[in-house]
Amino acid sequence: MSGREMQFIEEAFADNWVVPLGPNVNGFEADLERFVNHRDGAEPLSKRVVALSAGTAAVHLALLACGVGPGDEVLVQSFTFCASSHPVTYLGATPVFVDSEKDTWNMDPALLREAIQDRIAKTGRKPKAIVPVYLYGMPAKIDEIMEVAREFDIPVVEDAAEGMGSRFDGQVCGTFGRYGVLSFNGNKMITTSGGGALICPDEAMWREIMFYATQAREAYPYYQHEKIGYNYRMSNICAGIGRGQMTVLDEHISHHKHVHAMYAELLKDVPGITLHDNPSPRYDSNFWLCNILLDSDLRIKGETDVYKDTVKGAVGGAAGVTHAATSAHTDVEPNRNVEALRVALDKANIESRPLWKPMHRQPVYASNPAYVNGVSDALFRRGLCLPAGPYVTDDDIHYIVDTIKASIEA
Ligand SMILES: *Cc1c(COP(=O)(O)O)cnc(C)c1O
Repeated sequence: MSGREMQFIEEAFADNWVVPLGPNVNGFEADLERFVNHRDGAEPLSKRVVALSAGTAAVHLALLACGVGPGDEVLVQSFTFCASSHPVTYLGATPVFVDSEKDTWNMDPALLREAIQDRIAKTGRKPKAIVPVYLYGMPAKIDEIMEVAREFDIPVVEDAAEGMGSRFDGQVCGTFGRYGVLSFNGNKMITTSGGGALICPDEAMWREIMFYATQAREAYPYYQHEKIGYNYRMSNICAGIGRGQMTVLDEHISHHKHVHAMYAELLKDVPGITLHDNPSPRYDSNFWLCNILLDSDLRIKGETDVYKDTVKGAVGGAAGVTHAATSAHTDVEPNRNVEALRVALDKANIESRPLWKPMHRQPVYASNPAYVNGVSDALFRRGLCLPAGPYVTDDDIHYIVDTIKASIEA
């Protein structure tokens, strides 16, 4: 926290604005609009932003506004966190998963086109929306995805929850499609303790999202409801934290880029390990997380001993994980060398974690249609996220890379 956060929160209490509206919410939305509308060397955009209680709520409302309802299908990037796809099911619709391409690890535009054509052939109906993701902050091939979306006239909801401040061709991720999702959960690029926002194309859509985010109240002196709404507006206290965080957003992004550049430098001569990087200068990742891939023939000390016990608690000691694992294995899991490196880092007090397990591999989505090419499966088997947060120092990065090197079998 920068101190500015406390000032905005204190103002909220002093002025009696401890509610899900108020000057901090409006101020935070104005800050976000300035940030997302900026374009390098071009006129600013005119997007509007609604601050919400979570990024997941933003996905939910965007899909609702795209007209997604019971029986519909929505094309979702398979390689993602579950919050990209779960809201599709909240609406009674079916997520149809699309695999990634190797350059950005995000939605494969060619496979997207195939998936749309095949869904139309099989169901006689067009999918209602397309949800590409900026996973780990890396920009997707959004120009090509938008081209496919325009060809079939399907709205795009960009999940930029992990990609706040990432840019493609100098334009902020989340501003290319009809809607863009941001998250301010505790572990994201900035935090409001918990929260999110939806980037909207214009004033009319902004009003519509605001209406559904505040219980769909009609303009009468009494409660009058003609639609089902949600209680999704951000609180004025959380928005106070957000306003403070906006003053350090650029610093956070440069820090993440600095951490990534150091990993790149220190890992460049380590055989068998590849750091995920921008595929070309058109891509400008915020490097929210720094990820490495391990060649399958790289030998890590202790790898024959991994996966012997069921894990106690989720990786990262995730809060809220109350179900115990029933087996040490699932059908698809990280390679032995990856798990051995995770354990070695953990023993050295370094928290790393496997890449996100693709949604088409999740038991809860076992019967959903999926268009796959093996890319996200391979990434999940071979990848590891390294520490990259605002508190990671240069010394930490040296220590982390030294620990990685010492874990490799000579
Ligand atoms: C974090 C995240 C979300 C959801 O954000 P919350 O604010 O946690 O609800 C959505 N999509 C992706 C890819 C995320 O990582």
